Amino acid sequence: MKRLAVILLAISMFSCKEQAEQLPNPFFEQWSTPYGVPPFESIKAYHYEPAFERAMSLHNEEIAAIVAQSEQPTFENTIAAMDRSGRMLSDVANVFGMICAAETNEQLQELEGKIMPQLAVHNDAILMNEALFERVKAVYQTRLSKDIDADQIRLTEKIYDDFVRSGALLSGENKARLKQINEELSALSVRFGSNVLAENNNFVMYLDDKQVASLPASVKDAAKEKAAELEGSGKYAFTLHKSSLIPFLTFSSERSSREEIYRAYLNRGNNGNEYDNKQIINDMIRLRTEKAKLLGYKSYAEYVVSDQMAATPKAVYTLLNEVWEPALDRAKEELADMTELFKRDFPQDDAKFESWDWWYYAEKVRQQKYSLNEENIRPYFSLDNTRQGIFNLANRLFGITFRPVNVPIYHNEVSAYEVLDKDESHMGILYFDFHPRAGKGQGAWCGYYREQRYETDGSRTAPVVGIVCNFTRPTSSTPSLLTLDEVTTLFHEFGHALHFLFTDVRYNGLIGVEGDFVELPSQIMENWALTSEMLRTYATHYRTGEVIRDQYITRIQNSSLFNQGFNTTELIAAALSDMDIHSIENYTSIDVDGFEYNALYQSRAMLPQIEPRYKYPYFAHIFSGGYSAGYYFYIWAEVLDKDAFEAFRETGDLFDRRTADALRREILSKGGSRDGMSLYKAFRGQAPDKSAMLKARGLWKEPEVDSTQMVVKPTITDMLKMKKLN
Ligand SMILES: [Zn+2]
Repeated sequence: MKRLAVILLAISMFSCKEQAEQLPNPFFEQWSTPYGVPPFESIKAYHYEPAFERAMSLHNEEIAAIVAQSEQPTFENTIAAMDRSGRMLSDVANVFGMICAAETNEQLQELEGKIMPQLAVHNDAILMNEALFERVKAVYQTRLSKDIDADQIRLTEKIYDDFVRSGALLSGENKARLKQINEELSALSVRFGSNVLAENNNFVMYLDDKQVASLPASVKDAAKEKAAELEGSGKYAFTLHKSSLIPFLTFSSERSSREEIYRAYLNRGNNGNEYDNKQIINDMIRLRTEKAKLLGYKSYAEYVVSDQMAATPKAVYTLLNEVWEPALDRAKEELADMTELFKRDFPQDDAKFESWDWWYYAEKVRQQKYSLNEENIRPYFSLDNTRQGIFNLANRLFGITFRPVNVPIYHNEVSAYEVLDKDESHMGILYFDFHPRAGKGQGAWCGYYREQRYETDGSRTAPVVGIVCNFTRPTSSTPSLLTLDEVTTLFHEFGHALHFLFTDVRYNGLIGVEGDFVELPSQIMENWALTSEMLRTYATHYRTGEVIRDQYITRIQNSSLFNQGFNTTELIAAALSDMDIHSIENYTSIDVDGFEYNALYQSRAMLPQIEPRYKYPYFAHIFSGGYSAGYYFYIWAEVLDKDAFEAFRETGDLFDRRTADALRREILSKGGSRDGMSLYKAFRGQAPDKSAMLKARGLWKEPEVDSTQMVVKPTITDMLKMKKLN
């Protein structure tokens, strides 16, 4: 689900830290760990600050040396030198970012609040360094007449655009203002994230035996263990973590408790307490709008999207609107089915179906229409079997293998694998961290502790990658048994991991891809998860080893379009919310709730029984996760991934090696060495067709005129450097 912008670049902002600087610090040494993974066990919170300090000052020295050269600017002495600089800083920042997301504590949160603005300042100091920009510009202006190759031209263009998008062409006064804005935004975004985390952890709902009578045994067991762990006042504890919340909403017949927990979920960051995010949202939108204007854009959305495949907010809205109407129509049909059942439970005239009823009645309809009870099939989806299934899929498609390894870990629940290429050469290390903990953010993501990179001697250093989830825990009597949603999430994150592992590019600056392209490698993997060919390979009963029965496979597939009206509506609603608030051209104080209500329910006739997947006060993707004006990335990339999967279908073999080879060669290994549309066409031979996405969501209507090809202006740049992907 999410990603963090990699913070690149610094002046020594830290005050005297000589004492800390002199202590032994793992970041000051060459790591002698197996495969050079971070020595997690010896990294302490107090190591980060001196490490950042030294890394930023080293980076500054490297930049100063580039500027001080007397030779004329060349690709090698300026662009390539910049690309090589800041290595220690990215090593420290990568580990810090991953640990803050997966295993934070008060000390780290405080540190994050302090360091992120300093990194923003560091970044700006480099991108607004005039002497440096003069050199970059000189190379940029002569790039086409010099003897440099396509990668080098692209890197030069990307770095030049990075400077321009960061304000290099602004007057001194405007540059100073922009620096201030960036620093403030960075601090606000950290506070936003910490508030959401606190609000997630602050709510617990305790219930007694009678109140959990309708729940499946596995859900009860998990809630009982949670209550024991919290040592709270009740027998069963439910929290706002999705793995606790969603099963409760799905199975609990206690309507008032459903309301209580769902309201608590919806009100996170909106409780008028110290963790309230409404003012932070106002401040961020005000500052982002001002920033966009300074840089010559009408709105922040226009600024962000100009650098993506979509190129303009208009192209984004066109896609969102195209999906919106049919999604609402479907959702209305779904609601009608559920209302019948609801009325049987609540025959009073004034009883109204509410948003906290949706999961419960949807599950009833699903059982009735498709005889699919997720609890009955969960035993076929143990975490271990599912992971092994994914390993086997990667082996079948790409010939790669996975071998458990003993390496340092940051928590005893983390496991690690060495990934081997088809010739058994080392491809990288992959960590898994599966279950919710208090110090972990919500959702699931994949990121890296170290990017792949080429050393100055021409050798390639392999990446170290981590997948982090919040999946159902094992209980004392059963292993972790996944929901279908968790199963596809694992395939998704694994796709990001494959992308990191396969990337093979010479320059660091060519690793990142456009934001609306980044979910293609992840989402394409989801397509395999529930196909019968694939299910038969991994969905085996955790106790008996029995392969999942055909009748279950049929039911899973028949129900694949089930509730898609709801899923699509809540997804597109969040994407619209994001685009709307970032399309503001002149900021005036925003009533956050009113803004959402007007935009979605008043203007776009959203069903009152559905909430957007994220409401602003806890929309971490866009206020603390690097998806601002970018939540649409998922649906945009879905056009790509569904169409790309068709390439496999068309061969008649979902595991076709030649197609998989092409996917690896043209897309997964290429990083951002070309723009997304060029990479896509190299794989598919043509631009993507939207119809596969619409069909997969059950929203397809035969068009009167052919408008299925996605019209995009290919962008040649990509400045969003992504690190953490959800
Ligand atoms: Zn993702």
